[in-house]
Amino acid sequence: MRELSAVRVRRKWLVVLAAMVALVLGAALAERVPRPISDAVAPTARAAGAEVEPQHHRPVAPDVPPARVPYRGTVYLTFDDGPDPRWTPQVLDILRRHGIEAVFFEVGTSVAAHPGLVRRVRREGHLIGNHTWNHASLTTLRGRAIRAQLDRTERALGERPRCVRPPYGAHDARVDEVIRSRGQRVMLWTVDPQDWARPGADRIVRRILREVEPGARILMHDGGGDRSQTVAALERVITRLQARGYRFGLLDC
Ligand SMILES: [Zn+2]
Repeated sequence: MRELSAVRVRRKWLVVLAAMVALVLGAALAERVPRPISDAVAPTARAAGAEVEPQHHRPVAPDVPPARVPYRGTVYLTFDDGPDPRWTPQVLDILRRHGIEAVFFEVGTSVAAHPGLVRRVRREGHLIGNHTWNHASLTTLRGRAIRAQLDRTERALGERPRCVRPPYGAHDARVDEVIRSRGQRVMLWTVDPQDWARPGADRIVRRILREVEPGARILMHDGGGDRSQTVAALERVITRLQARGYRFGLLDC
């Protein structure tokens, strides 16, 4: 009898101990479980226009798709100095994968050498701009020579693009007037990551992300030298800008 009651007492203490362990564990779990109020607050913050970073978003139910990143603005990709049989196809592959269209400011000599590439650029929805026949600095040329640089490229293209990008961005009132008189417009850029100088893919990405703003026209190169860093940077630039809420538009060229 005495032995039986000793077992009962031990059992009673075990029950008390188990209850205490359960309480402590329960409290610890409760700390980690998100409070329902955070889900209630999120839509209000979005409606007020506050930025909601994607990593903070928690879907309310598994079958509800996550909220899209708030729209920040439109940016425009442009590629100069192609077409190039090695780099242009790689740039086109990345753009196609993301469903993005861009303007390619092509050099006439390369257009004449690689007509198949020019066709692919057009076929995939991109636009082509005039980047002169042989990358001439137009401010050093007379009016007739400027026109010859543009005409020769347009004969190779079989059309007159709406946009001209003067090499090195070199233009003045005289160059502008020649271009305007042809029914074309000068199209420069607002973000230059200097990818042509091969500063490393990381730097190219960082420079673009630092300087980008809504409406930015981003300059990159698909020709004129080793463009492996540009190709490596492009994928990251696209995904990082999209994660910030930017969309990619096509310039009116
Ligand atoms: Zn150029």
